Amino acid sequence: MQLSLLINGKPVAGEGDEFEVINPATEASITRAQMASLTQLDSAVDAARAAFSHWRETSDVERQTVLHQIADRIEEHADELAQHIVEEQGKPLFLAHMEVGGAVAWTRYNADLDIPVKVIEDNPQKRIEAHHKPLGVVASITPWNWPLMIAIWHLIPALRAGNTVVCKPSGLTPLSTRRLMALMDDRLPPGVVNMVMGEAEIGAAISQHPDINKIIFTGSTPTGKHIMTQAAGTLKRLTLELGGNDPAIVLPGSDIDALAAGIFNTAFLNMGQTCAAPKRLYVHESQYEALCHKLAELADAQTVGPGMAEETTFGPIQNSQQFARVQALVEDAKHRGARILSGGDASPGPGYFYPPTIVADISHGARLVDDEQFGPALPVIRYRDVADAIHMANSGEYGLGGSVWGPDIQEADRVGRQLNCGTVWINNHAEVLPHAPFGGCKQSGLGVEFGLDGLLAYTQMQVVNTSLQGDATP
Ligand code: NAD
Repeated sequence: MQLSLLINGKPVAGEGDEFEVINPATEASITRAQMASLTQLDSAVDAARAAFSHWRETSDVERQTVLHQIADRIEEHADELAQHIVEEQGKPLFLAHMEVGGAVAWTRYNADLDIPVKVIEDNPQKRIEAHHKPLGVVASITPWNWPLMIAIWHLIPALRAGNTVVCKPSGLTPLSTRRLMALMDDRLPPGVVNMVMGEAEIGAAISQHPDINKIIFTGSTPTGKHIMTQAAGTLKRLTLELGGNDPAIVLPGSDIDALAAGIFNTAFLNMGQTCAAPKRLYVHESQYEALCHKLAELADAQTVGPGMAEETTFGPIQNSQQFARVQALVEDAKHRGARILSGGDASPGPGYFYPPTIVADISHGARLVDDEQFGPALPVIRYRDVADAIHMANSGEYGLGGSVWGPDIQEADRVGRQLNCGTVWINNHAEVLPHAPFGGCKQSGLGVEFGLDGLLAYTQMQVVNTSLQGDATP
């Protein structure tokens, strides 16, 4: 099978460099594909630009109807999409179905949102209204961890607001996005959605392209900085959802048995490859050993294996580079004298299997704490004073999410509000919802997705200032 691009409603073979898509559970090639050439990128942008002239004129009801039809199509093809996700991304099938379910939920939510007109002044002399108009061509660049759902997060609000799209999935996980594009294209006029493939060269060309009005990017902070630099020349609108190193603080007096599963399940969601998962756990010294022990028990209870196997609860890491990175961070922790309570070594291959790993007696200065591991190894850090835990939690360049766990909601809330991050969860973590705006502080991002705020980020405000009677001279 050769994976094609989608340009102006037609599948087109890429004319750029060849690459292979690898199944992380077997390390075997799933398919070969060719990246887009720069000329093909231009064609995709031209098609999106041409389609914009009529798509922007469609009514709210027309767009809402089509987006619900797309949600129906995704539901009808849920099994197939979930299988693509498992094959290319590695996650267990139940989680891939959760991803497809999320894609449907986000599509329907955004379809139903109304784009408001705000009346700023209204009197016999004057009426001032703020309208939200589409931007034009939106480019979407996505990562490999939740490939289908993140594509939906980008594409659906862009379309709902009246924009057209060129998307570029990660070359590591293009299959589910390509299938999604075909399902969407069936319901949309040609050129409204287009897909190219490629890596840094195409990414740079997208960032600099004079006919792209906005980039929505989800990925690492270094790539986000490249995009921001390269997009400056055309002053593109940017939404950047970048890396995170989320702290989770467990307050003294917590019911360890009650919260351990919540911490484990969120920290290891998608094998730890989730932007807003707890990545550093701070536990008061009075409960440190008890919680470490409980987390290790939960880790030991996982069944590591290929995502398609029914008994699997924990799949492989998605790619060889990330696999090597997690191993390097855990080895560094071992050399520093950290205690490995569960896991700690790769499982025998083939496949990038690494068990959930709990690392105790570790603190700042170790790479596993200071860097974003984005994988299945959780460092557990001991603290004595809550103020110290807050201070440590706020260290570093990231500020995506954070959480506070404890029985006293008021106290947890007081601590949570001191965390410098885009979302604070209390007795929870990593819960993203279609209606709750989500974005990062510091170097974790720029702008928000989701909710009405997320939708409006795909629009340009236009103020209409009407003088209703008499002399209009100010
Ligand atoms: P990445 O930055 O390596 O790649 C992301 C995308 O950018 C890919 O499609 C890649 O092909 C493309 N790209 C590479 N070079 C480019 C360039 N020069 N210009 C434009 N595009 C370029 O990230 P990744 O490894 O795929 O994903 C993991 C990272 O994503 C982690 O840091 C994670 O925290 C972050 N992430 C953040 C969120 C969020 O919502 N904040 C969500 C998921 C993942």
